[in-house]
Amino acid sequence: MGKILDGKAFANELGQNLKEKVNNLKKEGITPHFCVINIGDNPASKIYVRTKKRRADKMGIIQDIYQLSADTKQEEALTLIDKLNADPEINGVMVQLPAPKQIDADELLERIDPNKDVDGLTPINVGHLWMGDHFVEPATAEGIIALLKHYEIPLAGKKAVVIGRSNIVGKPMAALLLEENATVTICHLYTENLAEITKQADIIVSATGQAFLVTADMVKDGAVVVDVGMNHVDGKLVGDVDFDSVKEKASYITPVPGGVGPLTVQFLMEAVVKLTRRQHDRE
Ligand code: NDP
Repeated sequence: MGKILDGKAFANELGQNLKEKVNNLKKEGITPHFCVINIGDNPASKIYVRTKKRRADKMGIIQDIYQLSADTKQEEALTLIDKLNADPEINGVMVQLPAPKQIDADELLERIDPNKDVDGLTPINVGHLWMGDHFVEPATAEGIIALLKHYEIPLAGKKAVVIGRSNIVGKPMAALLLEENATVTICHLYTENLAEITKQADIIVSATGQAFLVTADMVKDGAVVVDVGMNHVDGKLVGDVDFDSVKEKASYITPVPGGVGPLTVQFLMEAVVKLTRRQHDRE
């Protein structure tokens, strides 16, 4: 049976250090402060925003939530981003996605000052990511790499398969695995023979939002399986991976909940503090 990659415990360990860093900044009169813009009433988004707020409070970071109505106009959201970009008290800005249909989310992301881009999703920071000289990275991918390293799982030369190619998870995950010298394959809805590809993998990262997509017959013995998915089935939170069967074949596996989720939130907080320190010349 595979060992559990305990993201929650690792996030808590990192949290202790980060709290200390925040306390040290506070002694110098600096309190990391970031803003989450949430547009509309997506119930999952509201939960994510609250989860971040709880973590920020725990770390001693100020998180403001700008809850905008579902009929918010593009210009209103852009004006808010401009205001937050210009405010020297604000160290980080992020837009909670998805946004309602009338909103061009890409344009909002492009408007965020790259120096305040806690999610690492502005084109400038995405470019830096693929160039290998990044300062902030999308939190989920960064958290997964940190978790694999924490458990001393070798990445260089390994075959890694990422299922999902979103800008938020799949693509940055592939970029960071590539940077660790893994041989990376990215799969998506058009991928033919997904199981044939995943069966070759030493490391599988699934980020699709399809419950139980990854089954035991798709996984080779001893593979490392990372489940990013967060899906609600019969009122229960489950991942993309059929955990009970896959854990029998994997060497390491993340649970849902308690795997990747807590690391995503922790690494967002790490990004807030990193950017705050850089803005105050404390690199
Ligand atoms: P998106 O919907 O933006 O992307 C999903 C990706 O999966 C797409 O690239 C899609 O392919 C691919 N995909 C969907 N179904 C299949 C399939 N059957 N076979 C192969 N590929 C498939 O989602 P996100 O990347 O934003 O999120 C993915 C999941 O991760 C969600 O469950 C989300 O809730 C969760 N999540 C969890 C986080 C955490 O901290 N644990 C953080 C962020 C997200 P195509 O591009 O062809 O459509």
